[in-house]
Amino acid sequence: QDDQFKKVIAHAKEYGYVFQSSEIYDGLSAVYDYGQNGAELKKNIRDYWWKAMVQMHENIVGIDAAIFMHPTTWKASGHVDAFNDPLIDNKDSKKRYRADVLIEDYCAKIEAKIDKEVAKAAKRFGEAFNKEEFLSTNGRVLGYQEKINTTLSRMAKSLENEDLADVKALIEELEIADPLTGSKNWTDVKQFNLMFGTKLGASAENAMDLYLRPETAQGIFVNFLNVQKTGRMKIPFGIAQTGKAFRNEIVARQFIFRMREFEQMEMQFFIKPGTQQEWYEHWKDARLKWHLSLGMGEDNYRFHDHEKLAHYADAAADIEFKFPFGFKELEGIHSRTDFDLSQHETYSGKKLQYFDPEENKSYVPYVLETSIGLDRMFLAVFSNSLQEEELENGTTRTVLKLPSVLAPIKAAVLPLVKKDGLPEIARQIVDDLKWDFNISYDEKDAVGRRYRRQDANGTPFCITVDHDTLEDNTVTIRYRDTMEQKRVKIDDLRSIIKQEVDV
Ligand code: ATP
Repeated sequence: QDDQFKKVIAHAKEYGYVFQSSEIYDGLSAVYDYGQNGAELKKNIRDYWWKAMVQMHENIVGIDAAIFMHPTTWKASGHVDAFNDPLIDNKDSKKRYRADVLIEDYCAKIEAKIDKEVAKAAKRFGEAFNKEEFLSTNGRVLGYQEKINTTLSRMAKSLENEDLADVKALIEELEIADPLTGSKNWTDVKQFNLMFGTKLGASAENAMDLYLRPETAQGIFVNFLNVQKTGRMKIPFGIAQTGKAFRNEIVARQFIFRMREFEQMEMQFFIKPGTQQEWYEHWKDARLKWHLSLGMGEDNYRFHDHEKLAHYADAAADIEFKFPFGFKELEGIHSRTDFDLSQHETYSGKKLQYFDPEENKSYVPYVLETSIGLDRMFLAVFSNSLQEEELENGTTRTVLKLPSVLAPIKAAVLPLVKKDGLPEIARQIVDDLKWDFNISYDEKDAVGRRYRRQDANGTPFCITVDHDTLEDNTVTIRYRDTMEQKRVKIDDLRSIIKQEVDV
């Protein structure tokens, strides 16, 4: 598992996807830069989301609100008072951890034991193995599962009641050790606010304390009436937004899974009070379908319904994805009630109500939120796509099987040799196709090596120009995933590629 994750990180760097921020100064922890391919992949994921959420929904529109917001926003939203993580220090190592993450990691370790038992049994029973039955009847597995359930539910309850002493007691009872040193000498648990502060204004006495937004949602709430009125939107309707958010995360690890500066893709759906349950189910279902549409395997997703609810929510679930380090939250679906809009009414003194022509009355709408981290989605796609394949001839190849619609480069055009007019034809094909797709040109090294390079880069198609092309205007098109090669007309290339990469 760890090895696979290390390969993911190394590959992301080697192929220009993700670099450590300010690497020449030894980096900045939990901050990353996207390279030439990473920026394209990220953009394609963002577009894929935007298309599904905004373009395909007549009643959802997109906005782009500023990162800086009036500081009272964060009083109203509850972030100043309640956006905290429970922290615990280890007295020996002097290292600081998130108490809930220590406990969750402990549970993940037990879960890994379950996976191991399953794998062992599958091997032993072969075709006769039934996973569901094994999970529901095997005593040891049931014991592990019970331990996970009771641990997580006790943690959730303690955090909800702000009973930090019990969170510490739980860590001690489970004998959780400092992951780095193995020491079990813990301090008390304290709350720590995650927002980054900054100042607006030139002179010290007039400067205004601001926060970098820790979520994009509030930019939508404060614009609710602007959009509703100018867009003449009727409930139910949604406002979507993508953009940067900032959190002073304590557990700065797991690569781009948990960053201090990251990007969110959020949609707030405004509904009639009392209809939240049905919309909650609707959006859970719709969002899972979006994920499945990328073809990354149904078994890699699961829902996790929250027992511990944030201060603003009356129901919440995560879509979890199987990352190289186990199932973790990828997206949240939250029923936020009228909490945010009512709070903003109170703090701003402005009405944020909707006049419902059907009901002939005004009310503060309820809100359903879907919130996904773009960088986390990037990690899900990238880590799931990176594969090593044994080939028939006994060699292995590294291939990045990105969903074609998300791949940074859709096709590479390769002249078989650097002479006889082949490069000129290849260039012409690039010039023609680049109006529609990101295309690259590669003439260096033997063609087999070029294929491998494109496989590792995630390019779904290679187009090879050879001497026959001079005769009949055909080229070889090679498919990344199957390595199948076909002879096709140059004139057909556009439609062949379009069919694969369009949604
Ligand atoms: P976590 O429990 O992992 O800290 P959260 O429950 O605080 O996440 P939300 O506030 O619901 O997360 O944010 C919505 C989404 O934003 C998450 O599902 C995740 O994909 C993304 N996200 C949140 N924090 C980060 C971060 N520090 N780095 C990258 N993505 C993040």
